[in-house]
Amino acid sequence: MNNSADVIIIGTGVIGAAIAFEMSKAGRSVLSLDRNAQAGHGSTGGSCAIIRMHYSTFDGTAFAWEGYHYWRDWAAYLGLPEDTALAQFRQVGCMTMKTDANGYLAKHMQYSAELECPFEDWSAAQVQERLPIYSMDSFAPARRMEDPEFGQPNGARMGGAVFWPLAGYVTDPALSAQNLMAAAAQHGTRVEGGAEVVEILQSAGRVSGVRLSDGSERHAPVVINVAGPGSSIINRMAGVLDDMTIQTRPLRQEVVHVPSPEGFDFETNGTIVSDSDIACYVRPEHGNHILIGSEDPQCDPHHWVEDDVSYDREFSDQWTTQAMRYAQRVPSLGIPSATRGVVDLYDASTDWIPIYDKSSLPGFYMACGTSGNQYKNAPIAGKLMAALVEYCEGGADHDRDPMRFTLPYLGREIDAGFYSRRRKINDESSFSVLG
Ligand SMILES: Cc1cc2nc3c(=O)[nH]c(=O)nc-3n(C[C@H](O)[C@H](O)[C@H](O)COP(=O)(O)OP(=O)(O)OC[C@H]3O[C@@H](n4cnc5c(N)ncnc54)[C@H](O)[C@@H]3O)c2cc1C
Repeated sequence: MNNSADVIIIGTGVIGAAIAFEMSKAGRSVLSLDRNAQAGHGSTGGSCAIIRMHYSTFDGTAFAWEGYHYWRDWAAYLGLPEDTALAQFRQVGCMTMKTDANGYLAKHMQYSAELECPFEDWSAAQVQERLPIYSMDSFAPARRMEDPEFGQPNGARMGGAVFWPLAGYVTDPALSAQNLMAAAAQHGTRVEGGAEVVEILQSAGRVSGVRLSDGSERHAPVVINVAGPGSSIINRMAGVLDDMTIQTRPLRQEVVHVPSPEGFDFETNGTIVSDSDIACYVRPEHGNHILIGSEDPQCDPHHWVEDDVSYDREFSDQWTTQAMRYAQRVPSLGIPSATRGVVDLYDASTDWIPIYDKSSLPGFYMACGTSGNQYKNAPIAGKLMAALVEYCEGGADHDRDPMRFTLPYLGREIDAGFYSRRRKINDESSFSVLG
C-alpha cells in the first residue's frame, strides 16, 4: 500500500469529504482517514441537515446562501454516474418567527436583501394559513418543564415571521457524505476506514503525517483536521492550541422525533421553523413525523463532554422538555411515551462560528468548530479550504494577509480571516446553534 499522499484529511464527514473532493479535483493526491468504517457516520449522520440562508452575521449569511446552490445542483456538482443513489434536497422553505430575541429579524432581512436572497415578510395570519395547527400565543422566555410557569402564555401574541422559500433539508446526510467521497474517489482520493489517528507526526518544523492506532504511519506534507467533535483532541496532538483564541469542544444534543398531529400532514405541508419564542427549531421528517431540535436557551444546562466517543447516547428529560416546548406552539401535538430521535455531538466553538484556517504548525490546517450549523456549508467550505491550502503552501501568510476568496455562485469576495482561529470573539454571533 502507498502510505504517502500530498494531503491527509482526518475525517470523512460531510466537510472532510467535501475538502477531499475539491482538493483531488485540483490535482492533489488525497488520503482520507476515518476511524469509522463508513463515511458520514460521525456527527454528519446525526445532523438535521437543514439548509437555511439566514445567519446573525453578514458573512455567515453570504456563506450559507452560496452553500444552498450546491445542494440545489447536487447531481451536477458531484458528477457521479447517473445510476448513483444520491441524497435528496427537499425545498420546503424556512419560516423564522419574529421575536424580541432576534430583533424581529430586521438584520436578517437586511442581509438577505443585500445578497438578493429571496424572503417573504409574513403576518401572523399568513403563518396560521401555512400551519393551521399553530397557536400564536407567546411563551417567552423559554423555561424548563419543572418551572411552575412552563406552558403559560405571557399575554403577548406572535407578530409574524419571515419565510425563506428556497430553504430545505437533505433527506439522508450520511449518504450525502458518501456521495462526496465517491465523487472524490473518481478524482483519485483514497479512503481508509478503521484508521484511527493517535499522533500527528512532525519533521523539520512542519507536519509530516500521522500515526494510526495500529502503529503504522501515513505521510504527507499537509494534514487537515476535519475530525468534527474530535477536533480539539487532534489539535492537542498537533500542539497547536496555544495561539488559538477560539476553542472547540464537544457538546451533547438531543433531537426529538414525534408524529404529526392527527389530521395534519407535516411531512407534505410543513416547513422548517425556527422559533426563538419557545427555543425550538423543527422540520418535516419522513413517516409524517416532526423533528424538534433545541435553540439552546439560557435555562438549559450545556452538556459538554470530555471526548467524542464515550458520551451518554440515551435520551434524558431534555427530550421531553423539547417536545413539550413545541406542544406550546402546537397544542394538538401528541407526545408518545416511546422516545425517538437522535443523540449526537456538536463541535461547538467559543462564538459558535466555525474555524476554517491554518495553524501554528506549518502544513497543519483545521476545518472545525462547526457548532451545529455547518452541514449546509460543506461544499463551499471544501472549496474555501482547498484555496486556503494553495494560498498558504504557495508562501502567503494568511494570519497577516488573510486570503480573499470569491464565492463562485454569488460572485462576491469574502475575507477568509472571518474564520480565523485567532479572531476576536465575534459578538454579532447568536452564541447558539443559529450561528
Ligand atoms: C444533532 C445535530 C443536528 C445538526 N443539524 C444541522 C443542521 O440542521 N444544519 C446544519 O447546517 N448543520 C447541522 N449540524 C451540524 C453539522 O452536522 C456538522 O457541522 C457537520 O456534519 C460536521 O461535519 P464534519 O465533516 O466536520 O464532522 P463529522 O461528521 O463529525 O466527521 C468527523 C469524522 O472524524 C472522524 N474522527 C474523529 N477523530 C478521529 C481520529 N482520531 N481518527 C480518525 N478519525 C477520526 C470521526 O469518526 C468522524 O467520522 C447538526 C449537528 C448535530 C450533531
